[in-house]
Amino acid sequence: MEKSGSVENRVSSEQEKPRVGAEAEFRMPTFRLDGRVAVVTGGGRGLGLGMALALAHAGADIVLASRTEAELETAAASIRALGRKVLALPIDVGQVADVHRMVEASCQHFGGFDILVNAAGINLRRPVDTFTEEDWERLMAVNLKGAFFAAQAARPIMRARGGGKIINVGSIAFEIVVPNIALYTITKGGMRQMTRALALEYAPDRICVNAIAPGRFWTRMTDAFFSVPELYESAVQVIPMKRPGTASDLAGATVLLATDASDYITGQTIFVDGGWLVNSGVKA
Ligand code: NAP
Repeated sequence: MEKSGSVENRVSSEQEKPRVGAEAEFRMPTFRLDGRVAVVTGGGRGLGLGMALALAHAGADIVLASRTEAELETAAASIRALGRKVLALPIDVGQVADVHRMVEASCQHFGGFDILVNAAGINLRRPVDTFTEEDWERLMAVNLKGAFFAAQAARPIMRARGGGKIINVGSIAFEIVVPNIALYTITKGGMRQMTRALALEYAPDRICVNAIAPGRFWTRMTDAFFSVPELYESAVQVIPMKRPGTASDLAGATVLLATDASDYITGQTIFVDGGWLVNSGVKA
């Protein structure tokens, strides 16, 4: 990611045009993030914390944002233990004012940031007909609105730094539907198109917007489900790798989408699901 020059110059520059026979100019990206700063919502635990640790291992300093202060403190200590700087911010991503506070505090503390991971999310397991208006508002606010306004606020900061990476944590519900999580599925479906819409408009600023869509991972969100042996069995029987994912299973995709290695990838989703999506379930 080039870190200098005005946007207009970068986009229209003759040097930007690829030339046939330019193999001598091949540069292998490093997959490193030294000197970069990443803001991770939902970074206090679970998959968000795992992604933050992956980014810290790759060299990034980290801003962790979620609601539970005690979890943020423990998570921050694990980032510090890797030798990285960390800022922990108790905020509710469902409140746009909090999202703006997160962005402002990150800029004040680190002078800006290069990577935004929208990992904060909640779920409600219930049949469609039982959801209330309040449920609708809460899931939309946390899973969709927070991510949208965080990305919107991040754009000028990333543009001023010559580019950036936005990674939305989606779900296999981008693609398929399972019972009793209709509102969650609707928010994640919206997030898929949000990823594509922002990718299109932010590309001229060298801001890549992509999503990681986990299959079934064992975290606090799914603990009640996986703790029931019959439900565990029913879940893993459709996963060709025969196990739920764990936070470190997202590390590779996270680092790819955060580093210069993905500078020409935008609007895409990487499904990290142990093969679930390709499984027709048919025995032949
Ligand atoms: P988790 O352990 O429950 O973690 C959720 C994180 O989001 C926590 O840090 C939580 O912290 C934070 N959060 C929730 N509401 C928030 C709010 N209003 N404001 C700020 N932070 C908030 O669940 P997880 O499985 O790691 O989920 C992380 C992401 O992965 C979610 O977007 C989820 O939809 C997605 N995902 C999970 C799975 C899975 O199988 N586990 C599969 C597909 C996608 P506080 O509660 O302290 O705020």
